[in-house]
Amino acid sequence: MTLEPLVQTRQLGRWRIHAIQAGGQKLDGGAMFGVVPKNLWERRIPADERNRIQLGMRCLLIEHEIGPILIDTGAGNKENQKFYEIYGIENTGKTGPTQLEDALGQAGVKPEDVVMVINSHLHFDHAGGNTMKDENGAVRSSFPNARYVIQRGEYDWATHTNERTAASYFAPNFEPLRASGQMELIEGDREIVAGIHSVKTPGHTPHHQGLVLESNGERAFYLADLVPTAAHLPLPWIMGYDVEPLVTLETKRRILKRAVDEDWLVIFEHDATTAWARIAHDGKSYGIRA
Ligand SMILES: [Zn+2]
Repeated sequence: MTLEPLVQTRQLGRWRIHAIQAGGQKLDGGAMFGVVPKNLWERRIPADERNRIQLGMRCLLIEHEIGPILIDTGAGNKENQKFYEIYGIENTGKTGPTQLEDALGQAGVKPEDVVMVINSHLHFDHAGGNTMKDENGAVRSSFPNARYVIQRGEYDWATHTNERTAASYFAPNFEPLRASGQMELIEGDREIVAGIHSVKTPGHTPHHQGLVLESNGERAFYLADLVPTAAHLPLPWIMGYDVEPLVTLETKRRILKRAVDEDWLVIFEHDATTAWARIAHDGKSYGIRA
């Protein structure tokens, strides 16, 4: 099943921003919701016969003054069929190597136009599309003219894996960028480019980052795996994949409060249907604001 729409566009201050659907993904529902019992989570996202739930891999394209900026890149095209089957990934492109390039094309952007890629973290479903396998089987950067902005701590984590973390990090998703001189490592919270700030949001990984986008006083926040779907807005609804779930809890408490206080438009990377929303706290829990 191809998740539609491929591209959703709106204005944020003076920028046009596009939610780019880089493909579908199906993961075990129990793993996606951690300690939350199935009878609760399946009311929000139903499971298939293999207990998997449908997810998306949503990237964000910003028409910034310096040129097109892309946040996260989906799962790419470098793994074998068996791998894509295990993770239920459907991202084959109709015109480009993956659905990401198809969607960028729909938004009027060619891969060589992209001036910057920012990775929330380096897991394969977020950074797999950083690089691509060409017709000759060679791996090269998908965006030849882009700087790739990555947290230094995340890069260190990705290159020093253990038995628990190794299955998510593949060197071909990031090492070719180091070789090509395109990788730019940053540390902590900072303004990456005018109006786009990195905010460390640890828990899913220790150096996971979200991005605050601010243009003409309007703010959005790219949550990445801090809150992967709208169903994960309640504080204890935390993925089993997170390496530090209690750290995720405190990060969510801090970030979601800011999201309400500062009226952020939040962007959900893995939600199959909801690209963005404003949120509210109803006295019990966080949810999408009607
Ligand atoms: Zn993810």
